[in-house]
Amino acid sequence: MKILVINCGSSSLKYQLINMENEQCLALGLVERIAAKGSILTQKVNGEKYIIEETMKNHTDAIKLVLAALVDRKHGVIKELNEIDAVGHRVVHGGEKYAKSVIINDGVMIGLDECTKLAPLHNPANIMGINACKKLMPNTQMVAVFDTAFHQTIPEVAYMYPLPYYLYTDYGIRKYGFHGTSHKYISVRAAKMMGRDIKDLKLITCHLGNGASVSAVKDGKSVETSMGFTPLEGLAMGTRCGSIDPAILIYIMKELNLTIDEANDLMNKESGFLGVSGVSSDFRDVESAAMNDGNKRAQLAIDIFCYGVKKFIGAYAAVMEGVDAIIFTAGLGENSPRTRARICKGLEFLGAVLDKTKNNAVGICAELSTDDSKIKILVIPTNEELVIARDTNALIK
Ligand code: ADP
Repeated sequence: MKILVINCGSSSLKYQLINMENEQCLALGLVERIAAKGSILTQKVNGEKYIIEETMKNHTDAIKLVLAALVDRKHGVIKELNEIDAVGHRVVHGGEKYAKSVIINDGVMIGLDECTKLAPLHNPANIMGINACKKLMPNTQMVAVFDTAFHQTIPEVAYMYPLPYYLYTDYGIRKYGFHGTSHKYISVRAAKMMGRDIKDLKLITCHLGNGASVSAVKDGKSVETSMGFTPLEGLAMGTRCGSIDPAILIYIMKELNLTIDEANDLMNKESGFLGVSGVSSDFRDVESAAMNDGNKRAQLAIDIFCYGVKKFIGAYAAVMEGVDAIIFTAGLGENSPRTRARICKGLEFLGAVLDKTKNNAVGICAELSTDDSKIKILVIPTNEELVIARDTNALIK
């Protein structure tokens, strides 16, 4: 059984072909600059790169090239397209309608369209990817896997905003949460590493990448998460401000005479690490400016981020009335021992004690806490594509 996983953005597309017999990735690739000048596809098989530079007018062109790369005589990994048993699509927003992955049919396409108003920046690209695949592989089953689905178990008290109630009933305004596939994957993996039943565990999962969110996972279910109605809520991120006093928005729109789009860009694209440091949205650049150049604003951006993660850990330990493990994942969580150490500093009172040597683990699954730490601290590289492939496999069987 071979499953193609597609993650479509507005101008880019990531893909993986996964062999479900051993859950190995046969090929992975990235298409960039779709519908722009200089479209490029980069495929990797066993670390070897295959690059196609060709005009791609739209997502259908991009997926055509992906399929061509996969069956390419020299660089491909399959002989015929019918070796692909199913396609799993990442869809950012499933609203309240989709608490689980679903097989895509005409009814689901209507449902996805309805969810688009909740994620106008993301869902249209996901839908374009699905439509392109349907056109090119009309007889192949497809499954939609939602970023929001894992968080549909969050209780009302946590997902409702204290706004007029009709905003929820008439406009769907509530916390949805994102990065669900990642939080789910590392929770399941953590339980396995701990040799425990996930149904008896209280976990705090920290997905710290360019986008970042923390979740509380109790008995295998998400009960709280830091992102909200959109991925803007919660932690400060690469370019997003995270949670701020909402009145600031009204104030700056008035004072700076900003349009809605300008205000949106300010919060989503010009804030976070980039906004505070003035250096970059990429953590490595910010860290280098702080460490090597003594840049105070860069240091402040890092401090704000780590302080934010620590605050959520404290809050979620209270929400679950305890915690068995704290798990780090994604770009920063997997690769920056310094950031993990800064976040965990002072958490000994909770019973979470980081082992300085073990904390040097990078890019692998490892336990980072001391042997006598009451709460385990783990690092687990995330694998959202594998969750999408597993869900797809389970549904089409
Ligand atoms: P996304 O998938 O949300 O784009 P990633 O999970 O790839 O993001 O994380 C990207 C972030 O991780 C960037 O800010 C990057 O600087 C940071 N990062 C990646 N590797 C390292 C590293 N070795 N040390 C510190 N930060 C890192």
